[in-house]
Amino acid sequence: MRCQAMTAFGQPLEDLERETPQPGPGEALVKITRAGLCHSDLHIHEGYFSLGGEAKQPVAVQFPCVLGHEIEGEVVSLGAGVSGPAPGTRVAVFPWIGCGQCAACKRGDQHLCGPNRVLGVARWGGLADHVLVPDAEALIPIGDMAPGVGALAMCSGLTAFSALKKIGKPRAEEPIVLVGMGGVGLAGLALAKALFPNPIVAVDIDAAKREAAVKRGAAEAIDPAGADAVKDFVKRTGGAVAAVDFVGAGDTYAFASGSIRRGGTVVVVGLFGGLANIPLITLPLRAMTIAGSFVGSLDEARELVALLKTGKVATPLMEERPLSAANSAFEDLRAGKVVGRVVLKP
Ligand SMILES: [Zn+2]
Ligand SMILES: [Zn+2]
Repeated sequence: MRCQAMTAFGQPLEDLERETPQPGPGEALVKITRAGLCHSDLHIHEGYFSLGGEAKQPVAVQFPCVLGHEIEGEVVSLGAGVSGPAPGTRVAVFPWIGCGQCAACKRGDQHLCGPNRVLGVARWGGLADHVLVPDAEALIPIGDMAPGVGALAMCSGLTAFSALKKIGKPRAEEPIVLVGMGGVGLAGLALAKALFPNPIVAVDIDAAKREAAVKRGAAEAIDPAGADAVKDFVKRTGGAVAAVDFVGAGDTYAFASGSIRRGGTVVVVGLFGGLANIPLITLPLRAMTIAGSFVGSLDEARELVALLKTGKVATPLMEERPLSAANSAFEDLRAGKVVGRVVLKP
């Protein structure tokens, strides 16, 4: 197999050739057809996630490491004890694979497992032509979905889907605010349009991203840079029932929490690593809920793929590039030059 491997933090990926692995009991081998690039890949490549200010959460990986957790492909072969999906089936690969033994895994929250087997971090991931999947349960058949859609469903799609599910079922006339129109935010917009009849309000500092959001069905797109942007929004609309912060910076959280009405909910999903100073009295006085959401469960991933198969969700914006161009794709993503998602093709 060929892969674009990380051999040290912060260094360009290297083109490596290795023997293609054979699946053991319970495992599956998948030939990769598309792999999405995610901001988390950038953080892992840098070697840490920011915890705000100077504080850092280091990433533990073994080198060489193959990044990429948005994976779509075709089943090549199945290990002993695995009955399907049959070789040749097109699948999305749920990458948030747990240990299978702990309490989180047993209650169906593999994505919250500590000693996990996450593809693209703990195990080799999608920036390759093949991936060995340690638990064949992670294979989700995608039928004839357009190329790349299944891959993007596994992180940007799933992250947005799980965050939106935490909003519940608000009254239809109340706006829902989505802050940050990067890959996950745009996926969130498309899913929100399919899940809620409510007006969906997009927020981004970048004019091109606001334009993309309006084209893709946002009721309006707000530039949060203006001093009174959030106040004006609340004055005009009475405030949102919920806001999802797809960035996780101090400023984006401030906009999200400022935009909701009393009794509203803020869901934080972005891993930017900002800090927020929250006067605790605002929680009871505004009766507000702050929730965190991290990727999503295997059940949610299956539910999302079923929703995507109905054709009710707009296809995410994506730009296809060859796997061999992974390094320049990383640079463009880091520089904020990507609208939507870069999808690499082996
Ligand atoms: Zn991701
Ligand atoms: Zn576990």
